[in-house]
Amino acid sequence: MSPAAPSPTPKVQIPRRGLMLVISSPSGAGKSTIARNLLEDDPEMSISVSVTTRQRRPSEIEGRHYFFKTIREFEGLRQTDALLEWAEVHGNFYGTPREPVEQAMAEGRDMLFDIDWQGAQQLQQKMPDDIVSIFILPPTMAELQSRLHRRAEDTAEVIATRLANSRAEIQHWKEYDYIVVNEDLDRAFASVKAIVAAERIRRIRRPGLVPFVQGLLDEVPVLA
Ligand code: 5GP
Repeated sequence: MSPAAPSPTPKVQIPRRGLMLVISSPSGAGKSTIARNLLEDDPEMSISVSVTTRQRRPSEIEGRHYFFKTIREFEGLRQTDALLEWAEVHGNFYGTPREPVEQAMAEGRDMLFDIDWQGAQQLQQKMPDDIVSIFILPPTMAELQSRLHRRAEDTAEVIATRLANSRAEIQHWKEYDYIVVNEDLDRAFASVKAIVAAERIRRIRRPGLVPFVQGLLDEVPVLA
């Protein structure tokens, strides 16, 4: 017997809180590709677009990959508390705009954060119940290095800095809920999707279960 396809729109809709999915990894481990695949695959997931003082890469689009800012503009955002978290990474500043995250959480929408361990720590402290964190590891350091070169969007100097900094990033692996080794992109992506699917049905994330289960219990005497 072949399994029946799940119905596209379930009749039972149980309200839940949004989850904040944090993905970190050393540069070149495949985090951005996994994040992009997840956004394309999952209409319920949106991404937090960070602000950065880093130079825009040729392939990057303002407002889609980042909001590119001067150091002065970044300082202004920091001082007006417009950033939920911020950090210096590889010699540039990066931060998460507060407003879109608070709006998504208020509306129960899921949000993806492609941020480093410093940002993950700050979000974990601020919203411990909403964060689900995944750390992506490369299968070998040689593979990480060759992926950084293959990307060919950074100078040799930038690549060297990122490789050197990967040690510091990897040392924080134990602070994450899930560890995915990205040896094969399809398999790594499948793992991330499985994590999201399971985390969405966690009891604590579903306040709508209380009236739903009560409704089931109320039906019992009628059926008996
Ligand atoms: P890239 O320059 O390759 O786009 O990003 C460099 C690093 O900065 C990556 O590890 C990325 O996850 C991290 N990053 C990007 N945006 C943010 C942010 O808003 N906050 C923090 N803490 N890290 C970020």
